[in-house]
Amino acid sequence: MSLNTVNKVSQEASSTDYPVKSIDWLTRLIGFDTVSRHSNLALINDVQAYCEQLGLTVDLTFNKEKNKANLFVTVPAGQDADQINHGLVLSGHTDVVPVDGQTWTSDPFVATIRDDKLYGRGACDMKGFIACALALLPQAVALSNQGKLRRPLHLALSFDEEVGCLGAPLILADLKMRGITPDYCIVGEPTNMTMVVAHKGIAVYRCRVHGKSAHSSLTHQGVNAISYASRLIGFVDELAQAISHRDDNDDLFDVPYSTLSVGTIHGGTATNIVPNLCEFTFDYRNLPHMTQDDIVAPIQTKIAELTEQMQARAPETGIELLQEESVPAMRDGDNAELQALVTALTGDDERHKVAYATEGGQYTNSGIPTIICGPGSIEQAHKADEFVALSEIERCDGFLQKLLESCTA
Ligand SMILES: [Zn+2]
Repeated sequence: MSLNTVNKVSQEASSTDYPVKSIDWLTRLIGFDTVSRHSNLALINDVQAYCEQLGLTVDLTFNKEKNKANLFVTVPAGQDADQINHGLVLSGHTDVVPVDGQTWTSDPFVATIRDDKLYGRGACDMKGFIACALALLPQAVALSNQGKLRRPLHLALSFDEEVGCLGAPLILADLKMRGITPDYCIVGEPTNMTMVVAHKGIAVYRCRVHGKSAHSSLTHQGVNAISYASRLIGFVDELAQAISHRDDNDDLFDVPYSTLSVGTIHGGTATNIVPNLCEFTFDYRNLPHMTQDDIVAPIQTKIAELTEQMQARAPETGIELLQEESVPAMRDGDNAELQALVTALTGDDERHKVAYATEGGQYTNSGIPTIICGPGSIEQAHKADEFVALSEIERCDGFLQKLLESCTA
């Protein structure tokens, strides 16, 4: 108890001036270089201090190396302001993609406003939404202190979203451990403030074909890894064609079928050597109703068939298939009540389904109905001169304001 008091006093003594407006928060957040390969702790510590200055208690979960953290904070509801279960989660990832090899008009880590657009890495993906959520907190805290908040408001900031959604599962596991089951979640990825109700999943695979070397004049003594890899790649392409013509595809997606695409290939050392290794990668972007087994099973059958042929010639050869990354799809339907709430608040009943993956599928899978809605366009994400229109930030502020009001009703 006394330790807490000491902490509180020292924090007050060193209290910092934090931005009030979303745009100023966005400027501050862009100033932290949180490219996924770097630590995000400077940003997290800054937000933590802000939350603590507002009297909130933050909960951090770390990666193994302890150089990255998720932050989860709750503005409690209830008469005694002690209720933290249920409620609405506003979720955003703190990491951004690299700027390597891109030509920017201005410094990507210094927010710059030109023609009513704010430029900077993360402007739309997705520090814009986080900025709006942070700017909303003081008002939420005031309502909570007045006993007017009926439903807690949570803010979840994750790390390593851009490299496979690695942070959010730690938040979800922590919530489970603490017995907190939020009612809804809104992931603020850029959707031009329209409602995205479903997205595809991603699975990335690496395939290693192990053949046997020989001089290229003695092909009968070797097993050509590139040749077998190319047969397997041909099969993957045929499978991609087949799944694009399934009759259960979904026209609400801009690409209405699951896609399968080979991305990289490496193999061989010299033209006059039968190669003993060929390695390629492919990714699968599945519609929510399709599972990874739908594509992995036929590929594995093909691998077994090719392996048998290879091993008949040299038993030490074979094919390995490794899953490198996997992010679940977000289903439509689990979130019907939340969709209705958002439609009621915005008067907009447009619903979209998108090809890119977010943390939404992870939230949905742990039983938290989720939609995606945030400022800016995915068109600008990951590119040079990433920007968010200031009007989008304004719209997001308006939307969050209505959401907060819905938590008081
Ligand atoms: Zn994003």
